[in-house]
Amino acid sequence: MHIVLFGPPGAGKGTQGDRLAEAFGIIHIAMGDLLRKAVTDQTSLGLKAKASMDAGKFVPDDVVIGMIEERITAPAAANGFILDGFPRNVVQAEALNAMLHEHDLDLDCVVFLDVSENLLVERLSGRLLCRACGFGFHRHYSPPREEGRCDRCGGELYQRDDDREDVIVQRLHVYQEQTAPLLDYYSHQPFFRTVSADIGVDEVYKRLVLAIKDAG
Ligand code: ADP
Ligand code: ADP
Repeated sequence: MHIVLFGPPGAGKGTQGDRLAEAFGIIHIAMGDLLRKAVTDQTSLGLKAKASMDAGKFVPDDVVIGMIEERITAPAAANGFILDGFPRNVVQAEALNAMLHEHDLDLDCVVFLDVSENLLVERLSGRLLCRACGFGFHRHYSPPREEGRCDRCGGELYQRDDDREDVIVQRLHVYQEQTAPLLDYYSHQPFFRTVSADIGVDEVYKRLVLAIKDAG
């Protein structure tokens, strides 16, 4: 099963991607997580990517395309994958098509998570992530049982450097300019679905499962 989950920053791609991957027995490939790991590991790629990420701008296409190709063709992806945060513009969508074609793979579903802009700012500014396992929380909507500690592994929770109000505004602007055109790009495909995600996490999850089954 090969799924693309796209939508604005804060729509719930990471939260739902984790759940769906677990339920379907496939891997969750989150572009932002891969890039943040490269930054933490201080790889040459990570050092180059950090400035763009902190400023809320995109990392160059060739960098992210190379990282994705490596993941989707790895043995761990044999059962399938759910892509979150890639593609993020039309150039990346075309590169994804070409690499799927080359490896004889097809997309089963592209889902757009639709969320009102005022909710996005609230979701992003309250987001907390576990430094150890990457699991996501929200200060108000899904708070950890113990403040500052991950429910799953006890790791330390932190706020992303780019989840500051000024960088959030910049990221939403880049989303409108670069990623929103993907709606036109995919909306004519028979496997395209939109899920309204202004509601709670469990409800969104149920809608997503129905949408994916319907598309497949
Ligand atoms: P994305 O990966 O699309 O940027 P996340 O999955 O990281 O989004 O979600 C952003 C923040 O909003 C997180 O703190 C998450 O806990 C919270 N969140 C996600 N989905 C919902 C929802 N349906 N209702 C309320 N909060 C949500
Ligand atoms: P969010 O969860 O808020 O949607 P991500 O964690 O997916 O954000 O991405 C964080 C940052 O990583 C982006 O603001 C951008 O700098 C970089 N990034 C992620 N995915 C891509 C991509 N497909 N192309 C270019 N840059 C990307």
